[in-house]
Amino acid sequence: MAWISKNWAMTGIMKGLIVTLKHIFHIGNRPLVTVQYPYEKMKLAPRFRGRHSVDQDACIGCGICEVSCPNGTIRIVKYNGRWFPEFNLGMCLFCGLCVDACPMNAIKMNGGYELANYSRESLVYGPERILFKKEVNK
Ligand code: SF4
Ligand code: SF4
Repeated sequence: MAWISKNWAMTGIMKGLIVTLKHIFHIGNRPLVTVQYPYEKMKLAPRFRGRHSVDQDACIGCGICEVSCPNGTIRIVKYNGRWFPEFNLGMCLFCGLCVDACPMNAIKMNGGYELANYSRESLVYGPERILFKKEVNK
């Protein structure tokens, strides 16, 4: 009570309350900075680093991505008679070093970020899930 009688105008609290009310009633030119995820999604930055995909024609199975990964995320596995990387995304830092190291520019990191799953095994993305074929314009 002593505090209230000393600060009876409570200007600090009133200022805060006014800001809150402005947000509630959308008063003023205030841009919304949150979205109602998962119903709405934010626009991703052009260089957003999400899930990996590998160009199946460009990859030569050299394993440079495997040795360049600081977290041991990549393993080279045989698939349809060729060697391709397999990513254990549960261990991935999404640092992009594998993308930079690939001599064939075969790895892309796409906008896939909804990777949550119920088991660790389902976070292993083998060639059957990551390979893509580049469309050639004729
Ligand atoms: S993705 Fe690139 S670095 Fe990795 S095995 Fe294929 S060619 Fe080599
Ligand atoms: S993004 Fe980084 S942590 Fe993930 S696989 Fe590539 S090099 Fe490894």
